[in-house]
Amino acid sequence: MQHFIDVILPIPLEKCFTYSVTPSEADFLSPGMRVAVPFGKSKIYTGLVSEIHSKAPTVYEAKEIHQILDETPIVNTVQLHHWQWICDYYMCTIGEVLRSALPSAFLLESETLILKKPHTEVDESDLKDDEFLVYEALQHQSSLKVHEVSAIIERKNVLPVLNRLLAKNAIVLKEEIYEQYRPKLVRYVKMGREFLSEDKLEALLQSLSRAPKQSQVVLALFQLQASSKKPISVNDLEKTSGGSKAVIKSLVDKEILEEYYVRQDRISYEGEGENAEFKQLNEIQKNALETIVQNFEKQKVTLLHGVTSSGKTEVYVELIEKCIQTGKQALYLLPEIALTTQLIARLQQYFGDKVSVYHSKYSSNERVEVWNNVLHKNPKAQIVIGARSALFLPFSDLGLIIVDEEHEGSFKQFDPAPRYHARDAAIVLSRLHTCNILLGSATPSIETFHNARTGKYGYARIDRRFGNVLMPEMELVDLKEQTRKRRMKGHFSERLLEEINESLIEGEQIILFQNRRGYAPIVECTTCGHAPQCPNCDVSLTYHQYRKQLRCHYCGHHMALQESCLACGSATLDTKGFGTEQVEQELHELFPKVKVGRMDLDTTRGKHAYEKIITAFEQQQFDVLVGTQMLTKGLDFRNVGLVGIMNADSLLNFPDFRAHERSFQLLTQVAGRAGRTKKRGRVIIQSYNPYHQILKQVTTGDYAGMYKEQIYEREQFIYPPTNRIIKITFKHKEYNRLNEAAEWFAKSLRNTLMSTILGPEYPPVARIRNQFLKNVIVKMSLEESISKTKNSIKRVEKSFNAISQYRSVRVIYNVDHI
Ligand code: ADP
Ligand code: ZN
Ligand code: ZN
Repeated sequence: MQHFIDVILPIPLEKCFTYSVTPSEADFLSPGMRVAVPFGKSKIYTGLVSEIHSKAPTVYEAKEIHQILDETPIVNTVQLHHWQWICDYYMCTIGEVLRSALPSAFLLESETLILKKPHTEVDESDLKDDEFLVYEALQHQSSLKVHEVSAIIERKNVLPVLNRLLAKNAIVLKEEIYEQYRPKLVRYVKMGREFLSEDKLEALLQSLSRAPKQSQVVLALFQLQASSKKPISVNDLEKTSGGSKAVIKSLVDKEILEEYYVRQDRISYEGEGENAEFKQLNEIQKNALETIVQNFEKQKVTLLHGVTSSGKTEVYVELIEKCIQTGKQALYLLPEIALTTQLIARLQQYFGDKVSVYHSKYSSNERVEVWNNVLHKNPKAQIVIGARSALFLPFSDLGLIIVDEEHEGSFKQFDPAPRYHARDAAIVLSRLHTCNILLGSATPSIETFHNARTGKYGYARIDRRFGNVLMPEMELVDLKEQTRKRRMKGHFSERLLEEINESLIEGEQIILFQNRRGYAPIVECTTCGHAPQCPNCDVSLTYHQYRKQLRCHYCGHHMALQESCLACGSATLDTKGFGTEQVEQELHELFPKVKVGRMDLDTTRGKHAYEKIITAFEQQQFDVLVGTQMLTKGLDFRNVGLVGIMNADSLLNFPDFRAHERSFQLLTQVAGRAGRTKKRGRVIIQSYNPYHQILKQVTTGDYAGMYKEQIYEREQFIYPPTNRIIKITFKHKEYNRLNEAAEWFAKSLRNTLMSTILGPEYPPVARIRNQFLKNVIVKMSLEESISKTKNSIKRVEKSFNAISQYRSVRVIYNVDHI
């Protein structure tokens, strides 16, 4: 009998590829192990075994594999099922899921570039002969391709050698160089190994008798080490011993002290940190917890709907504790990990080093480390906090998933495929593990709330802030009227200025929200009306005053701001609309003494930029924080008394069926940053449309009213959750070909499907990076079989791709989202 394996390759193929293996290989292999396999004429890929069988492929001759890369599976069968669901539901290939699921260090391939790991010394005696050859070559050459490595060691199977070198920290892969992230390191010191016994120490102190500063440091360190098991940082030692950093360094140079580094987020919170007392839940929290547990017993997905600052996190903590007591793993999903240093610190206080963080900004090697810890059920990774990609970790015994801020749009991945929604994929994962899942939010998505209303999900509510802190007082300010009465100073209404003044006098901090970055979204000539456009995209360029630049927010194109209009030559360029940069500048003019910080994409590019701004604001190094929607994400500042929303209108006018829902969520969340402690916070919302229904609902905290109205509209206009949608985007650089292709596709869909087909239509930005875009939207009722419809669409795509002039048109699916 012949033996074959099906291999998932990390490329977008419709099917797995079949390779032949020997009987003993077939015996050794199991699904979830990696193999190095040849593909095409000369490529080598790392693939994942999905099945072992004896059916020869019919249309091609199965090639042999190069090499087995694992002793045991690194991916389990639950994961394989989950990935298959993702690829079926979101209409992509399993190879695309694989590529985004596995840390790239697991996926060496022939095109990977290999580099020497910078700033590390490798003990050459640790290296085997073939490893040494590669390592040495990298001393002379900045990078190697896999086939070059193959030439150096005169062997085809190079991936095992590279894997070993990766494990020994001798090399890195090219893509990691792009990841500028460097985790924060804390410097620790300990006594050199030689001086650990008391008599050795005596002798040492003797020899230092003429260097009192140094012996002081040594003595202090010795005492610190004796009195506490915690590691001693250089800063601590400096403080207790009175010796300067220079003195400590000279001791390190003499090898009397040893220095070592620990990554900040990996510092174990042993000793006093771990198991810091849990907070005693109040009655409302307790009730919510009880309701949740009851629903879990019925194996129901459950929504925790608790207003901002109601203490949801403490409820999560109790559930996590319950989960890990049974020895199971817990996953805490967050929309955006960069903003969560506050939360991570809080969880580490409770659970110490059982908490691991899975961070897309960590290097691939570090992600491998967390992966392996989860795989081997290492207690270090019993609780994983992560953004959406943490869903792909090899959990084998998951007991609880928490999806915090479940309404957040950033749970949806838009590019590249798989274009999945992490909340929904998490619910599927919880079913595969038969584990509990809790969705938490102050402003649940319409979908989730709908499921709770109809009884599909369990529902727990906390409608009061912790400690009975009042919800902030909200006020709408009519910009039209203020402008007419000439009460505006720049973009600040009289009311907002009054409140800012008052807060400053009271010593409270202020958050100002404007959902656009840059100085002004549009520069326009008042003579001829010309507005500078991006040459690659169909959008106006945004003015960034700081750099005196016009920038495209879609492709990054930028140019210097002209003195005069490019079209008519008049020096009458004016700005329209405004962004965070302008708010910041106006503040400086209105309140010259006030310190202002800004948080938007432009100020948070660096690796620790977020953290720095958040910490500085927390420590009250500045009074006002101006920012975009980044401000909304679960930040807990103690001293913010006032939140000002500079202009609510741009949110409301966004062309998306979820725009009103999002505006409600965003505004409620920003408002929720105000007055989280004793004193009641204040919120001023400026708008040209103060009578807009959504704004009224925000100010009165009327979630139920918002839901009722929105669900009615979704029904009327055939949108989720009362219907289903699939958006199909066509992309091509030639305008005419794109139009023709999209028309053809839409027409075929109309001929095949019962569903409502909209379009093809241009999206609001119809060209990005020189590619034209057109959308078709398929709307279907819940009665229609979604898998049948998807299959029909796939069949249409097949015929589409068979037409030669359409083949180069890209077809992109987004399920449930537009
Ligand atoms: P949410 O996640 O709902 O916005 P948090 O969990 O951040 O709310 O809680 C808001 C504040 O109230 C936090 O500072 C938290 O420490 C405090 N808090 C919540 N529950 C308790 C409790 N049971 N005992 C003491 N403090 C609590
Ligand atoms: Zn002009
Ligand atoms: Zn552009």
